[in-house]
Formats: sequence, C-alpha cells, structure tokens
Amino acid sequence: MFAKLIVDAPIEQPLDYRLADDEAHDAIIGSVCVVPLGRREVIGVIVGVAPTSEIDEPLLRSVVRVLREVAPLSPAWLALTRFAAEYYQQGWGELAIPALPPALRVPPGPRFVGSLKRLRAAPTAAAAPSGPETGVTLTEDQRAASVAIDAARGFAPLLLFGVTGSGKTEVYLEAMARRLAADPAAQVLLLVPEINLTPQLQTRLQRRFPAEPLVTMHSGLAAGERSAAWMAAHEGRARVVLGTRLAVFASLPRLAMIVVDEEHDPSFKAGDGARYSARDLAIKRAQDEGVPIVLGSATPSLETWSRASEGRYRLLQLRTRTPGTTEERSAADMRAEVMPDQAPPASASGDWPVLQTIDLRTHPAQQGLTEPVRSALAQVLARGEQSLVFINRRGYAPVISCEACGWLSGCPQCAVFTAFHKTDGTLRCHHCGWQARVPRACPTCGNTDLHAVGQGTQRIEETLQALLPNARVARIDRDSTRRKFAAQAAFDAVHAGDVDVLVGTQMVSKGHDFRRVSLVVVLNVDAQLIAPDFRAPERLFATLVQVAGRAGRAGLASRVLVQTQFPDHALLAAVARHDFAAFARRQLAERRSAALPPFVHQALLTAEGRTLEAPLAFLAQSRSLASEAASITVYDPVPMPLVKLAGMHRAQLLIESPQRSRLQASLRSWLPQVRALGQSFKPRIRWQIEVDPQQI
Ligand SMILES: [Zn+2]
Ligand SMILES: [Zn+2]
Repeated sequence: MFAKLIVDAPIEQPLDYRLADDEAHDAIIGSVCVVPLGRREVIGVIVGVAPTSEIDEPLLRSVVRVLREVAPLSPAWLALTRFAAEYYQQGWGELAIPALPPALRVPPGPRFVGSLKRLRAAPTAAAAPSGPETGVTLTEDQRAASVAIDAARGFAPLLLFGVTGSGKTEVYLEAMARRLAADPAAQVLLLVPEINLTPQLQTRLQRRFPAEPLVTMHSGLAAGERSAAWMAAHEGRARVVLGTRLAVFASLPRLAMIVVDEEHDPSFKAGDGARYSARDLAIKRAQDEGVPIVLGSATPSLETWSRASEGRYRLLQLRTRTPGTTEERSAADMRAEVMPDQAPPASASGDWPVLQTIDLRTHPAQQGLTEPVRSALAQVLARGEQSLVFINRRGYAPVISCEACGWLSGCPQCAVFTAFHKTDGTLRCHHCGWQARVPRACPTCGNTDLHAVGQGTQRIEETLQALLPNARVARIDRDSTRRKFAAQAAFDAVHAGDVDVLVGTQMVSKGHDFRRVSLVVVLNVDAQLIAPDFRAPERLFATLVQVAGRAGRAGLASRVLVQTQFPDHALLAAVARHDFAAFARRQLAERRSAALPPFVHQALLTAEGRTLEAPLAFLAQSRSLASEAASITVYDPVPMPLVKLAGMHRAQLLIESPQRSRLQASLRSWLPQVRALGQSFKPRIRWQIEVDPQQI
C-alpha cells in the first residue's frame, strides 16, 4: 500500500511513499509522520492512501514512522490548508507543515514521548485573579445581536457593525458563552489583529469563562507554549482559542463558531510566505465546517460591507456607546438588524465626540501645533482631563536637510529618507532598520548647520513639554515600548491618571480605553488624504474613527481636532458625522466605476534583484508567457512604489479579472512557467506572487 504525503517544499502534488500493510487504512489519513526526502528525514502529513502508485517500485521510499502519539488531523483541516495553498498559489505542504506547532515540525528525537507528556500537562490559562465577570447588562442592540448570532444554524456570516465603544466584545462573549453552554465539547475561535496590545481581552475572556480552558496563539509565544496551546486545541481540551492570523489554521475538531474582531485590520493579511488573508480563510473555514462566523468592526472593510449590502452577510448593528445609553430611542431604532443603506449615522445617538478641522492655511502650525490646538490642550490640562496627540510618524523628524546645498538624509539601501531620532542621535531607516550617527556636517558640502525637517512623535513630545511645563507628557510608539512590558506599563500609567498628555502613533489607537481623555488631536493626515493608493481613504477613515473613539468614553464632553490643509474634504466630513455608511457608499461607487476591488480580483507578481533592469526583464518575460485569456488583464511591469528596499530593486506586474475563478485558473496555468523561468533566469532574481494584494 502507498501513502500520499505533503512535505514542506514547493511541490504541487503530494508525494508517494510505501506504507507498511498494517498501517494502510483510511484512519491513517491526517497522520503526522517522518519520511525521507533527499538525504534528510522530514515531517510529512498523510493526505491519502492508494493500493497502487505511478512511481516505479525501486524509486519508492518508505514512511519511516507514523507519529501515532498524536491524533490525525481532521479532513476539515486538510481541506482548509489545501484550499489555502491552491488559492494563494503555494505548495500544499509548504503552507500546511509550517502551520503545525514547533514540536511537530521536525522529526522527533528520543525524548519525544516525554516532551509530549509535558506539553499535555501544560496548564491552559487559569481564571483571572479578580474572579468571574458578573452583573453585565447588555444594551438592547447588544442583546438583539447576540440573540441573532445564537439563532444562526450552519454556515452563517454575520457582520457586527458597531461604533467604537459600543461593546462589540460583550456581544462576542455572550454569543460564545451560549455556544459553549449548548454543547459541552464545542470550541470557539476568536481571531484578533494583535494580542500584545490588547491584554485586557484575554483577561476578560478568563473572567467570563473561568471554568473553560483557554489558550492563546500568536507568533510572540515561545516554541513550547505554542506547541502546548496547539495540542490543547487539537485534542479538544481548549474550548476557547484566542489568536492572531496564524490561529486560523488551528486544529479544532469541535469548532462551533468563529469570531473575527476588527475584521478590516490589514494585519489579518500575512506579509510574507503564503500571503493569506486570515479573515477570508476564516469565512471559508466556517462555510466548510458549517458554523456561524461573526465579523466585527466599526469601520468594516469595503469587501465585507459590499457583501452585507448585497445581503450575503447579515448585518447586526450597535449604535450607541456604552455606558451612557440613557437616551430614549424609538422602537424602530431598537431593531438590531437593518439594511446597510438604511443604517443611520451613529452620531444620532449624540455621544460621539465633536470633530473639528483646523485649517493649516489660516492657522499656521508652529513646531507642528496650531494656535487652536495649543489653547485646547491648555484648557483640558486646566480641567484635569487627559489629551491624546496622534501622529503616525515616529522619531524626531522624518528627514534632516542641508539648506546650503539641498542634501536630504537618505537610506543607502532603500529609496526613502532616514528619520532623525534625537533620543540617541541617530538617523534610522524605518523600512530596513539601517542606522548611523547623525553627521556633524553635511556629507556633500561640509555645512554644519543641518536642520530637522517636519514632525515625529519625539519632537511633538518635546514641543508639548515646552508648551505645558507642568503637564506630565508621555509617548507611546515602537521606540518607547521596545522592552518587554514597556507598552503595558505605559498604558497602565495613562489608565491610572498619571499622564496628562499622551503622544503616540497608531499603537495608541488599538483597543485601549482611556477613560478620562476628552481631547484628541490628529496631526499629519494630509499625505494620506491625497495618497495615490486606492485603499488609503479606507485605512485613513478606520484610523480616524479608531483614534477619535479613544475620547469621551467616560461620558466626558469631548473634542477631536484635526489639523489639515483640506478642511472641507469629504472623508473628514464623513468622519465628523460618524457616517460610515455614506463614506462606504461613495467609495464603493468610485471603485465600481474605476473597476477596482472588490469589483475586480487581482494578483500581484513581484520580483527583486541587484539592479532594477533584472526584475523588470523577468516580469516582461513572465508577461509574455501569460496566455491572453478572455477577461484577464495582464498589465505592464512597473517599478514598485518603494522601488529600492534593503539594497534590492523591486518591480511588479498586476494581473486581474472581474471573475475570481478566471483569475485562479489563469494563475494555475501560468505560475509553473514563471517558476521555471525564475529558476533559470540570469541575473538571479527573487519573485513572489500575492493573491488579493493589499498594496499596489
Ligand atoms: Zn550641504
Ligand atoms: Zn533602508
């Protein structure tokens, strides 16, 4: 008998191996085993058995060992990884084997049985020290949403659309609790964009489900922790699995429901390797396994929103922030389910902070801050409340310049400027990590009078401290939180009221409740308002809503001030009205008329080499290999927007079709030729394919 096996290699078809007769039965499918590959022994997974093989008997090798100590992976798991590999154009094993836990990715040593025993004995997260969560009262919208989720049978995609602070998490917890109570073996999967910035969520889960074994899965875990969590899920011991995008591949034999929180977040799309979208795969998984999936967001992705508009996803809406839901609402308002086009702006509930634009043309900024912003900060400080200043750029200044000759600090390895970091006197590239001491004099003309141009978090922090000498100013960005637990300590200080003014990047916008923040200042949005990337408005809208949502959570009257040269921009007006539905409607209309996603499906072939000519030539040859099938468009190769990164010159080629299936079929016939070309191409280049690219 023969087994068909997948291994971690870019191979399109499973490999045949000889299998001992006593092991040749269907129950062995899904088993993890050790097989010879070349001169090595590697891990493989059996995906089928067959009485015959097309390979000549002398060439066939045998399975070395079947790891009977670990239960086979389910047919559903095999189907999911196979689909993902085909859709994202990877080898099946190349995608599936890395999704196994570290302990199962290498052939086991002599202590394997002992280490499995230890992994199985590893405790899942214990109940939170402060005891179970009690006395939570749901709003009418929350209750209606969780009842609707509970009533869903079989595959049911639901979009939970709720303004920031409306208590989406409470709905997830309630729906999860009902699923877990209904079936003592059921497992639920909660996917989040990142875990390190939201430790409160894990605490809430532990409090809510003190008796349920809970595991977390994310790339920050040590190998042993990750393996233990995976085994607990695989063996059905963990009933609640909280994880980042990689957890979409968790083995969950009794999966009963999936929740994807902040479903619009770009970090659900993997940035390297198999560039899968965990959100999209979660939907596919829910469909295959016949379970409901809840997608939650205050600013859904336009892909998701358009599906809800078409009625393919059921829309559940939370319109008021919690607490502070004393306002009387009409009976019609209380229906949780509405059609997207009828969704009223959430500002109707009156507790959304007031957003004002500050026109930079009439209020010139000094050191990055306009006069209205300066006086608002002083007033908030005088009232003993907190302010948040958001600027999506770390460092002191994005570039330094020589006014004598026009020199600008640039990265020697990338086509970008290097940022000035005053705290340690360095110039740093935020793309490749290159860094150097700030030169004393201009490297071109020797002028010693160099200027820091523009604003970053460090400079704004300095300006604020000078402006408000009695204020306690803190900064949260990737530089200030490099040490372990530093981010948590900083957030704790804000929560405890030990900070008056907080300066930060996007890091501060995610998931944190700053209860006494009554002023949010937003700097440096103009570049994004006019960016050529067609997804930029969607991202900016989400960021602004999220940042603005930090204000006024404790019922304080609060304001959001946005400094901009485009105070009348429609996007800012929509954020001010908190009218996502109107924003989405306009964006989708624009995308439809411009034939952009979600009305067209795309894949991006990228290549990089030592010179720009090499990847461009490779892409041009690849393009000539593509057959000009109907309804497939293959564009000309062009340099990437960030044309040089870490010393490599980069180019891209876009292929698209209005039909997903046509695009898939075309990629399947084309990529093997591209692969063959890539192997023989001189000079050497590296290439990659990304299906549904997020940046073009
Ligand atoms: Zn100079
Ligand atoms: Zn660089």
